[in-house]
Amino acid sequence: MHVQSLFLLLLTFCWLTPAQGSGGRPPRDPSPPGDPATARIAVRTFARTQGFSRVRESEKQFHLQGQVHTLVVDKGGRRVVLNDVVLWLNQAVSVDNGHWSFAAVDVENTLLPVLKPVSGLTGRGGRVVVLDPGHGGRDSGAVAANGITEKAVCLDISLRVRRHLVAAGYTVYLTRHQDQYLTLEERPRRAKAWNADVFVSIHANSGGNTDANGIETFLLALPGQRSTNDNSGNAPSQLVYEGNQFNSANMTLAYALQKSMLEATKAEDRGVRRARFSILRNAPAPSALLEVGFLSNPGEAAKLATAAHRERLAHAIARGIDNYFTEVRRAELLVSPQSSPQASPRP
Ligand SMILES: [Zn+2]
Repeated sequence: MHVQSLFLLLLTFCWLTPAQGSGGRPPRDPSPPGDPATARIAVRTFARTQGFSRVRESEKQFHLQGQVHTLVVDKGGRRVVLNDVVLWLNQAVSVDNGHWSFAAVDVENTLLPVLKPVSGLTGRGGRVVVLDPGHGGRDSGAVAANGITEKAVCLDISLRVRRHLVAAGYTVYLTRHQDQYLTLEERPRRAKAWNADVFVSIHANSGGNTDANGIETFLLALPGQRSTNDNSGNAPSQLVYEGNQFNSANMTLAYALQKSMLEATKAEDRGVRRARFSILRNAPAPSALLEVGFLSNPGEAAKLATAAHRERLAHAIARGIDNYFTEVRRAELLVSPQSSPQASPRP
């Protein structure tokens, strides 16, 4: 996390929050102002400072509309829809000092990496993509009723993604090229050895019932924040992993991938979620883990059995990665306007 930029951000928001310092009301929260762990930012303040010129508020939602972006926020929930993509917040939108508010940790790590990704992307240049086809060998992953296996689907999609990215000028490595068993530790280790600039693990889902369907993209959970699917009530881990140095870029990448896959497939949007998967914890570069559909769902398994659908997904994944690198190049240009993206040195 960029501590300095977070501090400046909080300072800006504290300055602009209408409730701050008015009426001599004692703060409800005993933590110091600007404490990143507990600070909250009013939805309306966020809208005003981030260029959302129209705010419509209903009983259950806010609809924020800007020139480029739209954001729908559920009051009391963790789900927002940013430019038609579902993002799961770390903390519910709640009332703070009389105003519906985001946790500052979500503004910094969930919303701004999509709206203004510059600070998290500078120095992230390079063109090396490492793709990780999930499972392999004696580990088949999920197996559909129609007989297709997760390991085979993921390898086929990964090979297709590679073809698209190589054609677009990227250097691409696969952690495995055949039906081979690899430990979870070996996969990010290979990505590190190949100096990955981006690391994307490709999986297919399986759920408790055959109705579950859709696409989701995972990025690494933040220290001190719950995984999206963790409803245990246990205190979240405070551990900081190697992958946490890319928190902002992880979100920019995950959003780009989820958006592109949804546009290509019109699949159910299960959202961008956070987890502490070992692949993501140990990632040596900005990373995401994709769940491209449910093999336990007969309809999605039938689609994943066709080359046409796997090709559609692969094209979308390649486009999502390319869109991420477009943001990286834009960030570098904004930081050093004289240098062209081609001329900028590799970090
Ligand atoms: Zn898997």
